[in-house]
Amino acid sequence: MTEDVPDRRYPHRHLLGIAGLGADEIESLLDLADTYVELNRRTEKKQSLLRGRTIINLFFESSTRTRTSFELAGKRLGADTINMSVDVSSIKKGETLLDTATTLNAMHPDVLVVRHPDSGAVMLLASKVNCAVINAGDGSHEHPTQALLDALTIRRRLGHIDGLTVAICGDIMHSRVARSNIHLLNTMGARVRAVAPPTLVPTGIERLGCEVFHDMREGLRDCDIVMMLRLQSERMRGSYLPSTREYFRFYGLDYDKLAAARPGALIMHPGPMNRGVEIDGTVADDITRSVILDQVELGVAVRMACLEILSANNPPAPETEVAR
Ligand code: ASP
Repeated sequence: MTEDVPDRRYPHRHLLGIAGLGADEIESLLDLADTYVELNRRTEKKQSLLRGRTIINLFFESSTRTRTSFELAGKRLGADTINMSVDVSSIKKGETLLDTATTLNAMHPDVLVVRHPDSGAVMLLASKVNCAVINAGDGSHEHPTQALLDALTIRRRLGHIDGLTVAICGDIMHSRVARSNIHLLNTMGARVRAVAPPTLVPTGIERLGCEVFHDMREGLRDCDIVMMLRLQSERMRGSYLPSTREYFRFYGLDYDKLAAARPGALIMHPGPMNRGVEIDGTVADDITRSVILDQVELGVAVRMACLEILSANNPPAPETEVAR
């Protein structure tokens, strides 16, 4: 791909969510990501495709996997990658989100990767800057690169996504991972189930394209994929559950509940995991069933693909403008 030509396979400036993307656009991102998996396993991983480009990671919420993998992805493609820590930035001195964004924008980054606790904040920020913006998770709204890496994991393990039954289990209410996955899996032809206690299912979630179950064994019956979610206590206002011990008894994934799924059903989790709360530690570590570490590995390849395509779609300003 030439660097300065907008990419027709994904003809957008930003990646703000999965909602609204077509199957062909999702497929294109996954195909490109697939080409990076082998590279990431080599000793020499460095490319120069994005040499001269600048990527800023701006995270207003904590992160291990997403931030590290965006940083690695940018560096492996040869870009200058900077992590802005909110703890030591002027946000601590009262600067607003938009002032921070326009300040960073004035330094001519090519891509801003943003995580924010408020749903919609990343979209608002994208309307105020002239570089590409990737949503690395906004409140309980969307986390598009997580859904893409989940899709790549499924595709590489099972060869396809269409026709599969995927049970997304746990705190659906507060999960951006659940929303992005419901959009993506429906677009790619999978059947989606949301399995959770009534207090953790938002009203109307069926309209996004899923069937709701409150009984874990029923929800898992004959499914191909079991995707577990963490209880997002940082987003909970008030009490949603009697206790985590009780939650594990009814909704925690153990071998007993897993027996309802198809033999060989894959276990996924976006991390961070709370062992003994939403998932039993032995099940999480079962390498015959769990693909949790594959998800982490493929996250780097997916983020490389997103950075490559969005950089191509946001060519740098012409020399004269840069020199001003
Ligand atoms: N890491 C995922 C997210 O940022 C899931 C989680 O935090 O539980 O949404």
